[in-house]
Amino acid sequence: MMAAQKLAHLIDRLPPARGTITADAPIARLTWFRVGGNAECLFEPADQTDLQEFLNGLPSDIDVTVFGGASNLIVRDGGIPGVTIRLGRAFSDISNDGDIVTASAGAMDITVARSARDWGIGGLEFLSGVPGSIGGAIRMNAGAYGSEIQDILLDATAIDRSGGIHAVTSNDLGYSYRHSTAPDDWIFLSATLQGRLEDTQVINDRMNDISTARENSQPIRERTGGSTFKNPAEHKAWELIDASGCRGLQRGGAQVSNTHCNFLINTGSATAADLEGLGEEVRQRVLDETGVDLEWEIKRIGALPSAGGQS
Ligand SMILES: Cc1cc2nc3c(=O)[nH]c(=O)nc-3n(C[C@H](O)[C@H](O)[C@H](O)COP(=O)(O)OP(=O)(O)OC[C@H]3O[C@@H](n4cnc5c(N)ncnc54)[C@H](O)[C@@H]3O)c2cc1C
Repeated sequence: MMAAQKLAHLIDRLPPARGTITADAPIARLTWFRVGGNAECLFEPADQTDLQEFLNGLPSDIDVTVFGGASNLIVRDGGIPGVTIRLGRAFSDISNDGDIVTASAGAMDITVARSARDWGIGGLEFLSGVPGSIGGAIRMNAGAYGSEIQDILLDATAIDRSGGIHAVTSNDLGYSYRHSTAPDDWIFLSATLQGRLEDTQVINDRMNDISTARENSQPIRERTGGSTFKNPAEHKAWELIDASGCRGLQRGGAQVSNTHCNFLINTGSATAADLEGLGEEVRQRVLDETGVDLEWEIKRIGALPSAGGQS
């Protein structure tokens, strides 16, 4: 009898790269929620040229997904098919010129805010309250305490699915609340941010105020994904969720935070399905109780588990 042929893995179809390509890479540990299946292939490029050459040579039928700090993501339990790209240390440069800060997309928001403070550049301190990367902030129009990325973004560069580079201004990105109209296949590479020259101590005081406010109002030491739903016009999502009796609601290992009920938390044993299912239950209850249809802010990516178990 002939031996069964070994099924080819996607990794065998990928172009060569100088960075790291990992087959069946565990992703949960890289996410704030700590849930989700494996990435079929995880690519961490060595630099921009590496990323460009890789995308250029990547067969067009292979899906590409990008994530940054994974602080606004539920990765589903079936994992992420195709190639998942993570911009790591090679994309974390931060520099300044007068009151302008340039940051690579993999730089963490808090590091950018701290660097700006140390250079005496104010106006970026709201970023210290957003635990993601600059790439995620540009995509999501991240904001806090009255400021959003669109207020400070001068321009950004992005690379598309074929490796083409695009330079855009903030106006080109069609920003609205926690949303941009940037093409889905764009991976942001860098951003130029406009600050203002200010006293370092004054900036530091504002950052401390932000830190204290967050400590008091958000479950920032939990396994969470930040605000689950966007605030609907003229409402606060947390108030609607509270009014619908969902504070503390549980499903499996997922729970609506008692500290801030627009946050879901993984109490330890949650699956992605628990979290997403709980979110949908909250949406339904809020719709039934208040007539408001909440819109997810958290991105849910990847596949549901196959019938035979996790892929
Ligand atoms: C405790 C906590 C508090 C939070 N508070 C806030 C807050 O105050 N304000 C706020 O706005 N958000 C908040 N968030 C949510 C989250 O931090 C932001 O949305 C953040 O901007 C996401 O960045 P990220 O790098 O983690 O993106 P990810 O979660 O990795 O990805 C989010 C989306 O961005 C895309 N993306 C990531 N990197 C890139 C890139 N380089 N190019 C193109 N697309 C990319 C992903 O594909 C995905 O669609 C909070 C989250 C947590 C856990």
